[in-house]
Amino acid sequence: MAGSEPELHIKTPLLESIPMTKIAGCPVYIKCDNMQPTASFKIRGIGNRCKKALEAGYTRIISSSGGNAGYAAAYAARQLGMPATVVVPESTPKFMADKIRDLGANVIVHGKVWDYANQHALQLAEEDPSAVVIHPFDHPDVWEGHETMILEIQDQLHGKKPDVVVTCVGGGGLLCGVVQGLQRVGWSDVPVVAMETFGAESFNAAVKAGKLVTLPDITSMCKCLGALTVCEKSLEYSSKYPIIPCVVPDKDAIKGCLKLLDDHRILVEPACGAAASAVYSDVLGELKAEGKLPEKLGCVVVVVCGGGAINLQQLLKFKEACNL
Ligand SMILES: *Cc1c(COP(=O)(O)O)cnc(C)c1O
Repeated sequence: MAGSEPELHIKTPLLESIPMTKIAGCPVYIKCDNMQPTASFKIRGIGNRCKKALEAGYTRIISSSGGNAGYAAAYAARQLGMPATVVVPESTPKFMADKIRDLGANVIVHGKVWDYANQHALQLAEEDPSAVVIHPFDHPDVWEGHETMILEIQDQLHGKKPDVVVTCVGGGGLLCGVVQGLQRVGWSDVPVVAMETFGAESFNAAVKAGKLVTLPDITSMCKCLGALTVCEKSLEYSSKYPIIPCVVPDKDAIKGCLKLLDDHRILVEPACGAAASAVYSDVLGELKAEGKLPEKLGCVVVVVCGGGAINLQQLLKFKEACNL
């Protein structure tokens, strides 16, 4: 990890979810990364990446994400005293662009989708050698930063070892961090349930095909899971570690959001609801029935990855769209 500066992320609570414990029939713990200062886990990896870039001599941050990665990059730059430019695609909601601007970043709207915004970001960096482009999920420093979540969980479980860790997958950065973290604490045999939604299932498609697959389009409401192609590393790990890809409908992800809100007063993006649906829609039960997980689980950890691009009004719109 980068050394001299203080960490940009905080140690988040690990709480037993009594409602989830009731459903799963064994203790279920939620890792509340929705409580990070940027409302998602992203600051762990992006913060580490930005700190290391500063130590390497870069003095300006450029991001091409209009979502939680761009928000985390702008936050990290602000904390580190570096100027930030965030190129966001036209698809970015105005309130997210405004939130990123409120952190002091220069926000440029460019291109229909992320790929075009990213091209522009790379071009800006080419013109300015003092600038570093921060990729939202495909970089070893990002994965290393995300590992800290598992190190905290090990400490917080006081010697107890989870039987399964549930997380969601967008581009696979979080998944790589979770897997590396498990490896670091000596838990590399712990299965990871990797949740996606239909219309954003680029990881599941890659594992099935045995090679990277580029989806034609993202049709899921879980925009945070909407990477057309996952990072190569996540596919590599899927053949080395016990990772179980699972795909659920948007409806289950939205149900997961509504349940987290009612059960824990936690408001998160649909991507995070997808992870919660592993318990709330009993995906774990199905995996047991299929023999993919042991019948008797001692303890489950669900990563509550969070997400800032949500408010009550938006969640109610999703709810209605899913006829819930
Ligand atoms: C970025 C993000 C994801 C997906 O993470 P990846 O590293 O791209 O797999 C999931 N949930 C939230 C809230 C995110 O911000």
